[in-house]
Amino acid sequence: MIIYWLIKRFRRWREARRAERAANADEPVRRPPARRPNTSEPLDRDAAISVRGLTKAYPGHEAVRGIDFDVRRGEIVAFLGPNGAGKTTTVEILEGYRTRTAGEARVLGEDPATAGPAWRDSIGVVLQESQPEQYLTVRECVELYAGYYDRPRPIDGTLALVGLEAKAGAVSGTLSGGERRRLDVALALIGDPELVFLDEPTTGFDPSARRTAWQVVAGLRDLGKTIFLTTHFMDEAELLADRIIVLAGGEIVAEGTPATLGGRDRSAARITFTLPSRLRREQLPTPFADGDGSGPRIEARSTAPFEDLRRLTVWAADAGVDLPDIEVRRATLEDIYLELTGATAP
Ligand code: ATP
Repeated sequence: MIIYWLIKRFRRWREARRAERAANADEPVRRPPARRPNTSEPLDRDAAISVRGLTKAYPGHEAVRGIDFDVRRGEIVAFLGPNGAGKTTTVEILEGYRTRTAGEARVLGEDPATAGPAWRDSIGVVLQESQPEQYLTVRECVELYAGYYDRPRPIDGTLALVGLEAKAGAVSGTLSGGERRRLDVALALIGDPELVFLDEPTTGFDPSARRTAWQVVAGLRDLGKTIFLTTHFMDEAELLADRIIVLAGGEIVAEGTPATLGGRDRSAARITFTLPSRLRREQLPTPFADGDGSGPRIEARSTAPFEDLRRLTVWAADAGVDLPDIEVRRATLEDIYLELTGATAP
């Protein structure tokens, strides 16, 4: 029992040291946060997260450049952006692990730079890499963390939520990568936080483990949690997020639902098919005669896909040919993302 108590004390001390080091490590300028003059709207004090003019400057480099956004309570927001966009910097400022250079931020109504332990208990953080206690079983780990909170969630319910009931007696150090990640999520949830930060929750997962993780996130949605999710996977963002915020070069370049982000709902459809061998491209109706594509493969962009398809099928029927591999698709979230961030597909 004494050993258990000592571990608990040590763990608390280590957490506090880590937070202190993280807050100090990156500090080129230690001055009080100032509001940027171009910030227009006031902070939304009812939102789970509200940020105005948030700026972070490292020596010689402004990583976050005066961004504004809100996350409503109960919302799942995906934070996307290429490497070096400033996502981790932003998230760590919101978690209270890094200080900002300028701007304002409120997380669950408090300034993360000055919020106290009660506030910390109301947020759950799942980092990309963590080291849960290797020598304890899964259940002991979860019990240990539960001891840090005044009103923890039930242990069994939390293990069930992340699908680790069968591994409750396994020593943490023997878990697979995917199981470790689930344990991370259980540890982030055991304090019954209102807001959960998930940092690339499925990186390194196999396809079936990713689906299980998505079910866990869906379970959190059902519990009414607010989730701020950082990911590089478009399918994950599309499936899980109510809203997406895209960051590039430290600035927000787009914000919207997965269906409307960057005008996705208004973007041209792509119609593709293989031209039958006895026909020539010039014989096709517009816009297909001028379409892209190499060899017999035709690809045309269409802002009126219904009308263009009708014209094409009538033409094919008149010519007595079939177009068996015809495909119509709207821009994918990845197409839009790559356009927004100025990246090119590999
Ligand atoms: P990734 O997707 O690769 O994790 P990110 O969007 O999370 O990238 P950040 O880690 O926030 O990006 O980094 C943003 C920029 O700030 C990068 O250019 C990075 O090199 C720089 N940076 C991050 N931390 C520090 C630091 N402590 N000191 C100096 N520069 C830093």
